[in-house]
Amino acid sequence: MRALHHFNGGVHPPEHKGESTLRPIQQPPLPDKLVIPLHQHIGNSAKPLVDAGDTVLKGQMIGKAEGYVSGAIHAPTSGKILSVGHEAVPHPSGLKDLCIVLEPDGLESWIDLQPIDHLNMDPSTLRNRLRDAGVVGLGGAVFPSFIKLNPGTGKRIRTLVLNGAECEPYITCDDMLMRERAREIIEGAAIMRHMLHAEEVMIGIEDNKPQAISAMREAAGQSMEVVAVPTIYPGGGAKQLIRVLTGIEVPAGERSTDLGVQCFNVATAASVYRAIRYGEPVLSRIVTVTGNVKNPGNFEALVGTQMAHLIDQAGPLEGSAGAIMGGPMMGFDLPSTAVPVVKATNCIIVKSDALFPEKPQPMPCIRCARCAESCPADLQPQELYWFAKAGNFGKAQEYALFDCIECGCCTYVCPSHIPLVQFYRYAKSEIWAQEREKKAADLARIRHDLRLERIEREKREKAERLAQKSAQAKTVEHSQPEQK
Ligand code: SF4
Ligand code: SF4
Repeated sequence: MRALHHFNGGVHPPEHKGESTLRPIQQPPLPDKLVIPLHQHIGNSAKPLVDAGDTVLKGQMIGKAEGYVSGAIHAPTSGKILSVGHEAVPHPSGLKDLCIVLEPDGLESWIDLQPIDHLNMDPSTLRNRLRDAGVVGLGGAVFPSFIKLNPGTGKRIRTLVLNGAECEPYITCDDMLMRERAREIIEGAAIMRHMLHAEEVMIGIEDNKPQAISAMREAAGQSMEVVAVPTIYPGGGAKQLIRVLTGIEVPAGERSTDLGVQCFNVATAASVYRAIRYGEPVLSRIVTVTGNVKNPGNFEALVGTQMAHLIDQAGPLEGSAGAIMGGPMMGFDLPSTAVPVVKATNCIIVKSDALFPEKPQPMPCIRCARCAESCPADLQPQELYWFAKAGNFGKAQEYALFDCIECGCCTYVCPSHIPLVQFYRYAKSEIWAQEREKKAADLARIRHDLRLERIEREKREKAERLAQKSAQAKTVEHSQPEQK
């Protein structure tokens, strides 16, 4: 049996997972309308390839990846494009973003799918296929997977880690996927192992998911190691899981790839399998719908499905008061449920006052250090809080603000009920804004200097041309024969 390691800190919030694992994954009815955002991944938005009035097939690319860090977007079903414009998207700000609105025709007419024999194809062609299939991290990070499958020249990935920990309360989409589609995940892991030339594959699953562990062990056989890891939040953080499984501590500011380890979510592995084996782009994902609903469960939802449509399937109960996308620790309050499911939507929790009572008013920090004891990133949350609150962002960065994974453990244990993570998010966004402003000012200065340089050059060239003309005129004058 493999010896496991541990990370510092962590908490044990109530799990609330049993409610949504009583039924198999369900297929909701086809919605009347799909609203498909063009920005569903880290990086640049996809560029729309369709216009209002076009008809599209299921799986057709409707948004092309733009630049290196981007992902393609596809029609989740066949139908007619109603519009390309700004619509409400799931974001805490409530801002709108560019979306393609599709009216399904109910025919589910597919494009001509092109499966790939991955064993006879070089990794770079496979990466292009994954990019064009819109495969991104489905654990919530939505980073384009083809980039993570390219470790870079001279770098070697020895260990491929699959993350099936799913440590956050309420969320069970990965658990159900592992129970029901373990073979797809294992086949996807085999493709990724082939692409990375990884020596070993380890799949970490929290020990509160015995059915998933047994299904995955059966599918993996002897080819990959399925490891039951202790249930503790945030054991599913990539750095934390890598630490528990391999003992490798990824230092601040470094990536696990620099140390020969790459980590993917189990649902991402399944989508890699479908993209390569069947040529299917990412059109849907499993979403847990839970909280104040009659039938909590997991739904295979087409990207673009209104969240309200999924909540209706689960049967909202009286006293529902808003919803969270993600889990209660790292998720965010949705401004409205009239927003679409995107590739990052792993869970929708319908709130009620009973489940999520109003938080007590924050009190002053009593320097109890409980936050530091709970921090899995070994930070000093109370110091970060003081610096962020005082607007001393330089000092916050000195105290490794950007190593904070926003897990919320510090907020969870704080006896003074200080919303610590909100302060860190604020400080990070201020630093990013300042950096953007500085970049813009530097760019403006460079442009200004170049303009001055151009004006000077044009002046100089003009003077040279005039001098040349006058010299030519003088030569002509002197060469004229004298009049008698
Ligand atoms: S847990 Fe809260 S009260 Fe205690 S030191 Fe941290 S911020 Fe202060
Ligand atoms: S939110 Fe950040 S500071 Fe707080 S416990 Fe998590 S990693 Fe540490």
